[in-house]
Parts: sequence; C-alpha cells; structure tokens
Amino acid sequence: MAERQEPEKVVMVRYGELFLKSDPVKYHFIGILLRNIRQALEAAGHSCRFESPRGRIFVYGENPEEIAGIISRVFGVVDVSVCTRVAADPDAVRDAAVTLAGAHLHAPSRFAVRGKRQSKTGMNSQQLGEYVGSAIYDAIPGLTVDLRHPEYELFVEVRDCGGLVYDSRIPAPGGLPWGSQGKVLCLLSSGIDSPVASWLAMKRGCEVSHLHMDGGRWAGGDVRTTAIENHRRLSLWCPGADLQMIVADTEPFYDRMQELRVPARLRCVLCKRFMLRAAGRLCVHEDAQAILTGENIGQVASQTLANLAVIADATTVPVLRPLITYDKAETITLARKIGTFMDKQGDLACRAVPRMPATAATTRAVQESEAILGIDELLDAMLARVQYVIAHNGKIL
Ligand code: ATP
Ligand code: MG
Repeated sequence: MAERQEPEKVVMVRYGELFLKSDPVKYHFIGILLRNIRQALEAAGHSCRFESPRGRIFVYGENPEEIAGIISRVFGVVDVSVCTRVAADPDAVRDAAVTLAGAHLHAPSRFAVRGKRQSKTGMNSQQLGEYVGSAIYDAIPGLTVDLRHPEYELFVEVRDCGGLVYDSRIPAPGGLPWGSQGKVLCLLSSGIDSPVASWLAMKRGCEVSHLHMDGGRWAGGDVRTTAIENHRRLSLWCPGADLQMIVADTEPFYDRMQELRVPARLRCVLCKRFMLRAAGRLCVHEDAQAILTGENIGQVASQTLANLAVIADATTVPVLRPLITYDKAETITLARKIGTFMDKQGDLACRAVPRMPATAATTRAVQESEAILGIDELLDAMLARVQYVIAHNGKIL
C-alpha cells in the first residue's frame, strides 16, 4: 500500500530557455536564478527552503500564494504554480486532485486533466490524466470532459521527487536571470520608451544601471521627478537588489549651446552625442559593457537613420536599442504591462528643442560645433559632480 502523506503546499517554478544550455552553463544560470529568487523572497520577509530537481525549482515557505506572486516577477522564470505535493503515487495524486477540483470546479463545466509521469514504467502520462479525470468526473456530478477547450484545467504530475497537483499557472516574464549577462548603462529619461528599454535588457539577464541627464531649467518642471519615478518602478523588477541611477547636471551644456550660438538645428544631435559620451565614460567607471537607449527609427528628428549614425559615432562603447523597430503603440502596451506607464504626464517638455531640428546632420558639422563648445571640459566638469539615487524594491533610499 502506498505510504500516506499529509498534503503540503509547494511553489513550483518553471524556467524556459535555460534548459537549452549545455550542462555547465545551465547549472551556472540556475545558481544565479536561485540566488535572485532567494534575494527577492528575503527582501519581502520570507525565509524559504529550496529544492532544484531536474528542470524545476521548488520553494517551501509560509504563504505560498504570496511567494508565487513574488517569484512571478523574477526574470528567467516562465511560470509559477502553487501545488499540492503528495507522495509519488497515482492514488495519492488522484485523491489530492479530487480535493482541489472539489474546491474550484463547479458543475456544469467542461474540464480537462493534464497528466505527466516521469517514470517509464506503470501508467504513462495520458493514462494518469485519464485515471485522475475519471475520479473527478465521478466525484462531481454534471461535468463534461473537454480536452480541447476546457473551462477548468487541472495538472497532475508524478515525478521522482513526488506527486504534484495544481490548477493554475501564474505567468512570469521569462528571459534570463538578472545579472547573468553582464552590465549595461541605460540612459533613462522621463519618457515612455527608455523605461521599457531598461526592462527589456533586464529581461535578457543584464544587470542595469541608470543614467539620467538633468537639464535643470532647460527641462520641464516634472522631468527629474518623473525619471526618478521610472527608476523607482523599475526597481520592482529586480526585487531585493539595489538599482542605481546616476544623475548628471547638463544645464551648463545647454547654457553653453545658447551662449556660443551653435546652430540651433543641431542641438538635438549634439545633446544625444553628449549623453552618449557621458555614458561611454561612465561605462568604464561602472564596469558596464554597453549603453542602452530607448531610441527608435524615425520617432523624432534626432532618430532618423542618418542622425542615429552620427549620434552613435560619439562613443566606441556598443549602443543597444531594444525598441529600435517598435511602434509607439507597442511600446505603450508593454509599458502598461510592466507598470511604467503613467497616465498623468506633467511638464516633460525640453526647452532646448529648436523649431526645425536637423534630420540629417553631418558628423563634420556636429564636430565643428563640439569644438566650439569644448565638450571634453564640459564633460569633465559634469562627471566630477554626479549624484547617485538608489532604488530598492520600489523605494528610493
Ligand atoms: P519618449 O519616451 O516620449 O520618446 P524619450 O525620453 O525617449 O521620450 P527621446 O528624445 O526619444 O525622448 O530620447 C531618446 C533616448 O535618449 C531615450 O529613450 C533615452 O534613452 C535617452 N534620453 C533622452 N533624454 C534623456 C535624459 N534626460 N536622460 C537620460 N537619457 C535620455
Ligand atoms: Mg523616445
């Protein structure tokens, strides 16, 4: 007779792409993922126990629903389920499944049971599903089995490490674990695009630091606080880790463009080149391997292909632009989904934008203006007095 065990709740974590890696790389990445999950949970006051059998991570702790919610924001995780865990035995799994369905499934309803069996002997996966499905069918009168379009889906697994029963899969962002791909410095503005770019790089496993260029009186009154708000919201996506933002004062740069009367039409390209130069220098200091921006082909005058090339020429550090081909509507949809979109926008205007910005500036023309401005001296002065803003779990420290 199968040994009877009290049902216990466990959070099951699935990861996707990591599985495709060679064994040493996979174990390395799983180690980082485990560290990130543990860090996120500890930051929320949960002390948990972990197991990582093949292809899954199991997390045990008080309040599994809350634990699952926290883990569903960790990059590298594909989805999360709160499971009832029983012995690795079809009868134990069947009993737990009938109990779970009894609580959540009400007739009349179309339902399906999806079985998974790791062992090659005894029932196969399909037979396990049928075995459990017929027990539920008998226990709750008025149900219909519908494997194609069920209203209620229940999953049962008999694995070497135990039996699992669950009826919900909380989607997580996927991607790669934060910090598994090196560091990038993201130019973060008060806009909609750059926070989404930052999130996408985090999702691909990059550790991100932010750099905001504060234009002082040349920037709208709400620019700085909105950029900090973007930074704060993004910190919710690296729970438990410190997210750093460097704030650099670009007011003197704009003042000098006005004083020395460089062609107004070149201002946007000069400004973006100045940002990239600053970012390039800070990358060395911050040990970051690339600069990240929210730039996008054709969105504004400084983002024509011709201007993007002239802008990129300002630094030798690679510039990554994850949104380069996105439509604005696509970026907004993603911004809403990840929680960086703000319905109420304050004064975010840039007072330095000329009436007719150049759409095809030449490198020669901008270099002439830069020589007049004394870019290196401006950069040295600016970088000597940057400020740091640290965000942690949605709070500015
Ligand atoms: P929106 O999201 O509405 O397009 P934006 O801030 O992205 O606004 P753009 O002129 O499109 O404005 O800037 C292109 C990119 O340059 C931004 O995605 C961002 O990476 C960077 N950038 C712009 N302004 C700043 C700033 N003040 N500080 C840091 N980076 C900035
Ligand atoms: Mg933009």
